[in-house]
Amino acid sequence: MRAMILDAPGEPLRAVEVPVPEPDAGQVLLRVRACAVCRTDLHVVDGELPDPKLPLIPGHQIVGTVEKTGEDAGSFAVGDRVGVPWLGWTDGECRYCLSGRENLCENARFTGYQIDGGYAEYTVADSRFCFSIPDSYHDLQAAPLLCAGLIGHRSLRFAGDAERLGLYGFGASAHIVAQVAVHEGRRVFAFTRQGDEEAQQFARDLGAEWAGSSEQTPPEELDAAIIFAPIGALVPAALGVIARGGTVVCAGIHMSDIPSFSYDLLWGERSVRSVANLTRQDGREFLALAPEVPVRTEVVPFALEAANEALGALRGGRVRGAAVLVVDPS
Ligand SMILES: [Zn+2]
Ligand SMILES: [Zn+2]
Repeated sequence: MRAMILDAPGEPLRAVEVPVPEPDAGQVLLRVRACAVCRTDLHVVDGELPDPKLPLIPGHQIVGTVEKTGEDAGSFAVGDRVGVPWLGWTDGECRYCLSGRENLCENARFTGYQIDGGYAEYTVADSRFCFSIPDSYHDLQAAPLLCAGLIGHRSLRFAGDAERLGLYGFGASAHIVAQVAVHEGRRVFAFTRQGDEEAQQFARDLGAEWAGSSEQTPPEELDAAIIFAPIGALVPAALGVIARGGTVVCAGIHMSDIPSFSYDLLWGERSVRSVANLTRQDGREFLALAPEVPVRTEVVPFALEAANEALGALRGGRVRGAAVLVVDPS
């Protein structure tokens, strides 16, 4: 099969031919239809996350159809369309798993990081961690739901019942969260790179009532903010525009250092928290919610062999919505 492989962090991915993997017990073999590109893929490729499996096939927003099932591979049957998210395996027995927090599992393994992912024609996945994909979504439009959507949804939950919601970095995740937030009756304020008029217009098109650059002060105080951009300086910036009692949620897996800031910014029961990974419950909830909103994902398609170009476009902030590798759409 064709695959894009990371030999070493910092190097471009390499197009290779490798054998189609065989599903072990509990796994399904999937024919990959589409795989969305996540900022986390960039962090893996750029070496900002430690110790990836090497060589590695990245990609953790996979839409595929079951080609073959291993022994005891659960309820999925050949031909079913399923999604594979970032959370690829948990031990099911650590203190986190046993308390409903498998996203924090001490021994978790992640797709496209410790497990080969979806930048390939085929992949295998533990069927217990796969989701059914809502019928109303095409392969390409479904793929970004699997991380941009899921993590965005989890982040939005941690924003509590905030009515005035700030979104820093208007990329794949924010463009989904904005739709869910508006659907829930919240007011969205979008922050982009300075001068990125196109992203600001995109945010307004999706229901943001205000859009500006992250250096700007919004027209009124916000109740919460979610930071999707991997820029630590946005933490004090966001704290500076939220009201007392508000939360700043850091949604990314990696961020540059957060500069020191005056305690005044945190005072007034403001809080800062991160969001780590997902639980399967998050996945089931969000994939049920998305068609109800309905969330419409905007995607920029790339061929599998153009994965480096897709990563480059994401790095440069040139993707409107989500970049998706089109492998073999059904
Ligand atoms: Zn665990
Ligand atoms: Zn992701």
